Amino acid sequence: MPVMPTTYQQLLEATIQHLQELKNHGARFVEVAPETLAALAQPPRASTVPRPVAPSGEVAKARPGTEISPPARSAEKPSAVSATPVSISVSPAERQAKEQAMAELRARALVCVKCSHLAASRKNVVFGVGDAASPLMFVGEAPGADEDVQGEPFVGKAGQLLTRIIQTMGFTRDTVYIANILKCRPDTPGQSAGNRKPTPEEMQTCIPYLHAQIDIIQPKVIVALGGVAIEGLLGKTVGITRLRGQWQTYRDIPLMPTYHPAYLLRNQALSEKRKVWEDMLQVLEKLGRPISEKQRGYFLKA
Ligand code: URA
Repeated sequence: MPVMPTTYQQLLEATIQHLQELKNHGARFVEVAPETLAALAQPPRASTVPRPVAPSGEVAKARPGTEISPPARSAEKPSAVSATPVSISVSPAERQAKEQAMAELRARALVCVKCSHLAASRKNVVFGVGDAASPLMFVGEAPGADEDVQGEPFVGKAGQLLTRIIQTMGFTRDTVYIANILKCRPDTPGQSAGNRKPTPEEMQTCIPYLHAQIDIIQPKVIVALGGVAIEGLLGKTVGITRLRGQWQTYRDIPLMPTYHPAYLLRNQALSEKRKVWEDMLQVLEKLGRPISEKQRGYFLKA
């Protein structure tokens, strides 16, 4: 009898939970049949990630639970967002297909051991967070220490700044989708702190998960945060300073390169914040969102 996807999902999640518990209790190895190991090592295949039905991708009338509300907190200068809330509507069947496909992809990523050094050092796989049917997706570099502990992207200091940018745009974290090029924190053997850039090999190994995430979501716009995100998505090693603010295309999807929020934490100049904000205004325009005068004026000189 064919196994129903939900049953399969439940089995997979129970297995993952069991493995996590073993790991938490100090287990470092489990006995696995060679054929099982070979199957787990396969990259995600299109046939195992059910493709959602064609999305409408249209801005449409409000649907309970998908309204994009004004920010709960303001960004550094902005005090409020007066954009009219607009919600993105997808049919319930389409949303369900996307959520199921994302859950199955997540389940595969959570047991990934393709980069054995990262699998051994990570606390959690940081898969991605947000709305699998969102028109807007943010892509960063790789999890840092905070993200590794919490299993969620962009929750540290740079993440809090990204959250404020998202809110100032008139969205919330759960109405957009946030992911990284790498799903595991780059290890730093012999160091108790600090981050390192992902290697080209790590990026190449992990990128199929991000491609599959984008295939499921089919966002109207992707925002690439920093040079590593650009390199991972577009294969370009051109400096982010030259690329930011200029529309690029990833598989027919408009992609806006901008500075990584960690850069804004290092460089507190108003002019740099304004550059990122101008990039986000372009994104709002592309999404067909109304922009208030107040929003247009953020981070201009007083
Ligand atoms: N920086 C990133 O690029 N991604 C995260 O998730 C956190 C910090």
